[in-house]
Amino acid sequence: MELAYENTKIKKGKPFGALIVKNGRIIAKGVNDVLETPDPTAHAELQSIRKACRILGTSDLSDCELYTSGEPCPMCLSAIYWAKLKEVYYAYTAEEEEEIGLGTDYIYHQITLPKDKRGIMLKKLDKNLQNKNPFTLWKEMNS
Ligand SMILES: [Zn+2]
Repeated sequence: MELAYENTKIKKGKPFGALIVKNGRIIAKGVNDVLETPDPTAHAELQSIRKACRILGTSDLSDCELYTSGEPCPMCLSAIYWAKLKEVYYAYTAEEEEEIGLGTDYIYHQITLPKDKRGIMLKKLDKNLQNKNPFTLWKEMNS
């Protein structure tokens, strides 16, 4: 909450901060840098996950916890799954984020829709247009 407050007060950034904690020790801190960078993925949770992974030298944070000022958006929640975090603690709820115009209800809803009903077109391409097949290569290299 302090990170989020300072990020807004000092950097005029969005009011979000996050910490990665391992064995009671803070490994990494992150704040929302979307306005400063400008990078739409620079959410506090992602920033802290990226830093923690670099510091610990692994993409597996299953022995860490994430503390965040706001309930994670779908992108950050996905990253939390990818990083194998088991526990997430948050202060503001998604409803409170929505109330100040920083909610992600729209995206959460979009994900539940069939692909052809979403606001973004997802079109399947023909993967056989060229002879390089990265999935086949991956399977060969990992079998
Ligand atoms: Zn996020």
